[in-house]
Amino acid sequence: HKYVYDFAEGNRDLKDLLGGKGANLAEMTNLGLPVPPGFTITTEACQAYLATGREPDGLAGQIEAHLESLERGMGRRLGDPHDPLLVSVRSGAKFSMPGMMETVLNVGLNDRSVVGLAARAGGNERFAWDSYRRLIQMFGKTVCEVPGEEFEHALDEAKRARGTTSDLDLDADDLRGLVDAYKKIFLKHTGRDFPQEPREQLDLAIRAVFESWNAERAVLYRRQERIPADLGTAVNVVAMVFGNLGPDSGTGVAFTRDPASGAQGIYGDYLANAQGEDVVAGIRNTVPLQDLERLDKRSYDELLDIMARLEGHYRDLCDIEFTIERGKLWMLQTRVGKRTAAAAFVIAGQLVDEGLIDLDEALHRVNGAQLAQLMFPRFQLDHDFEPVARGVGASPGAASGKVVFTSARAVELAAEGEAVILVRRETNPDDLNGMIAARGILTSRGGKTSHAAVVARGMGKTCVSGADEIDVNVPAKRFTVAGQTVHEGDVVSIDGTTGKVYLGEVPVTPSEVVRYFEGTLDPDEADDALVGAVHRIMTHADAARRLAVRANADTGADAARARRFGAQGIGLCRTEHMFLGDRRELVERLILARTDTERADALAALLPLQRDDFVEIFREMDGLPVTVRLIDPPLHEFLPPLEQLAVDVAVAQERGEDVAKEEALLAAVRRMHEENPMLGLRGVRLGLVIPGLFAMQVRAIAEAAVRVTRDGGSACPEIMVPLVGAVQELETVRAEAEKIIAEVVGDSGVEVLIGTMIEVPRAALTAGQIAEAAQFFSFGTNDLTQMGWGFSRDDVEGAFFWRYLELGIFGISPFESIDRDGVGRLVRIAAEEGRAARPGLKLGVCGEHGGDPESVHFFHSVGLDYVSCSPFRVPVARLEAGRAAV
Ligand code: ADP
Ligand code: MG
Ligand code: MG
Repeated sequence: HKYVYDFAEGNRDLKDLLGGKGANLAEMTNLGLPVPPGFTITTEACQAYLATGREPDGLAGQIEAHLESLERGMGRRLGDPHDPLLVSVRSGAKFSMPGMMETVLNVGLNDRSVVGLAARAGGNERFAWDSYRRLIQMFGKTVCEVPGEEFEHALDEAKRARGTTSDLDLDADDLRGLVDAYKKIFLKHTGRDFPQEPREQLDLAIRAVFESWNAERAVLYRRQERIPADLGTAVNVVAMVFGNLGPDSGTGVAFTRDPASGAQGIYGDYLANAQGEDVVAGIRNTVPLQDLERLDKRSYDELLDIMARLEGHYRDLCDIEFTIERGKLWMLQTRVGKRTAAAAFVIAGQLVDEGLIDLDEALHRVNGAQLAQLMFPRFQLDHDFEPVARGVGASPGAASGKVVFTSARAVELAAEGEAVILVRRETNPDDLNGMIAARGILTSRGGKTSHAAVVARGMGKTCVSGADEIDVNVPAKRFTVAGQTVHEGDVVSIDGTTGKVYLGEVPVTPSEVVRYFEGTLDPDEADDALVGAVHRIMTHADAARRLAVRANADTGADAARARRFGAQGIGLCRTEHMFLGDRRELVERLILARTDTERADALAALLPLQRDDFVEIFREMDGLPVTVRLIDPPLHEFLPPLEQLAVDVAVAQERGEDVAKEEALLAAVRRMHEENPMLGLRGVRLGLVIPGLFAMQVRAIAEAAVRVTRDGGSACPEIMVPLVGAVQELETVRAEAEKIIAEVVGDSGVEVLIGTMIEVPRAALTAGQIAEAAQFFSFGTNDLTQMGWGFSRDDVEGAFFWRYLELGIFGISPFESIDRDGVGRLVRIAAEEGRAARPGLKLGVCGEHGGDPESVHFFHSVGLDYVSCSPFRVPVARLEAGRAAV
């Protein structure tokens, strides 16, 4: 089995096998660029080592053979006492994991070859001893786990003894002394002398790189970045070139464009007389790359030339590492460079202009997560703002405002035009109005899937959750943090991206991209390259995509916003909120009704209110489809909580007040109490049990549609029945609804579709039957996930999701991104069997997954017609639907 590849044998497409660094070193070698010779040990060798705890058979021999050929090519032997070949041993996984794994430089130096190195460098002893002390330091730290600070201290000590703060002032004797000190440290921590045998150094370093794949920080990083845990790293053995040979040598890093803004032009740092890691470590101040032109014009010109070639070759921004050894330029690394979200869009646009890529390719160069980032306002943190607490960045954005502790107060102050931050220990459904009114939400409990986090993300509202240093005292209207007390009305600032909390107001800049989407910023007039690039790429995504994008919106205002953001309809209009607020009393009347007449009266009172709501939404969505979901949650959710009510009744009785009404209410609450409300009397079950309830809603929808149409508009309602598990449920509701619709619509020309939500696993599995009675399906993937897994969403997060994520049972919460294998399979089956029974059946998805990039790609692949998500996510879904299609 081949475990070792010479650089000349690889290419950039072999990242799986050679890692990113190795594949790109090979690519540069084959482009004829000046890369020091070397070879790459494959990720397969690493996987085998990690699986068995020892090097696979044949590896040692292959390394030997490649080393010999390297030695022949260089005309030197590894660690030769007179003229040593030195090598670096560098990690390099398929996906770049910056700073996570290990690299050892100057392998091959020992007490004898250090002398040879000095001689070969024209008697430059300082250089040789500097290289040797670096080897012991890096080898000790990365291979033998000697605490790095010990070496740092010894180095500081040497500088102090010399009366300097710069390592450049240390002379050969100082460095020779430092080598002795380092060796003692090495011996003390490892119980053995620093290995003098070059091949042993090499083998131990290779092994350490293999093992660094499983270093704790690497494991954490992979989990966060969702990099699979079993890829392993390749190891690159590269002939050393020396940037620390004197002032005519040096090392640097560069980008072919500005990775922050995307602006054209080269960016980079250079450090004379240094080895590579000094630049990153910030040991000395670097100079801007442009200064190299003055220092070494020939190398500078060659570098620029190479950078232009690399960009042309990779057709993208590249970052590089290079070293100049006595006026000779060497390329040590390149890769397609990381960049900010803004730069990703700008560069993609530029590359199209430059003819390097087409618009389809430009779509692949950006993603929805980046677009989402660009849509949030940002803090300008140029001043010294120190966070006082840090929680989970639960819903990104930046918000400043006056602290309030109750929903009611949030609504009050917001009505006066104040920006407020709602601070709670945790939020619950009663906080909804306050959350809507607030600029941001801060909680001291809960993680990324807590109520606050989930609801805030849905609303596109900034939220920091689980900031547990904050001690919230709601009755006293204050919280304490870091020894300070913050009262209602004091200003705080929260960053929902980083989870940081600041006292006082941090200035915020609104997102230009949102202003563009809202139509208040003309892309032609904006002198901002970003908005122009976003405009072009979004236009192309819209032209390319097959999935339509709708929004979830319950009010006219939400609908209007969604439309501005490009929604092509409403995929989910929930009717629950229409039962809240002042209308609660009507709902109570409905629930307490003892006779048909009482019930009919209550419903008749609700009808015009519902109708008005729908009129408003249909007007905003003129000409576009609006899917209205009939009432879904159990009715007792609209009643007061049992305990509270029981106490109130008891207290009132004690006082001798007349409590007949309250007692009836209490009895109703008791009667309707459910052990598992999620699996109880809700959705279609409610419609079948409470006479007239669905009928009232259907009538309100149909009447609203007729009114809007008569007024010259165009309403396209789609009535959606929730929680159906059997076709008979739908048929029953549908028969009644069709009668009402026919009666209301008459000859107005209004067409009302009737369909169902697919959110119960049984519905997915009997989709062929259900399709006979449904004009459309909308996948309710939130409930489908809950019931598919048997999770109650509100209960699982705090209880055990963290553990599941830790154990890798989930890569990501299945509520955030659709579980393709399980819940996704239900969607696929239902889509196929539904369409087989009724060709052309309209298929959509509502629920948070509709705005999740990964999930959008899945929904595209199973052939849905549209996704629906919160208004704020609509542009993200448009972009991802475009990316899925090209
Ligand atoms: P990382 O992945 O952390 O950047 P690298 O393997 O690229 O680690 O190496 C760390 C530093 O050492 C870089 O600055 C690199 O340029 C430098 N370096 C690596 N190999 C050599 C070499 N053969 N000669 C000179 N410098 C090298
Ligand atoms: Mg590097
Ligand atoms: Mg549901």
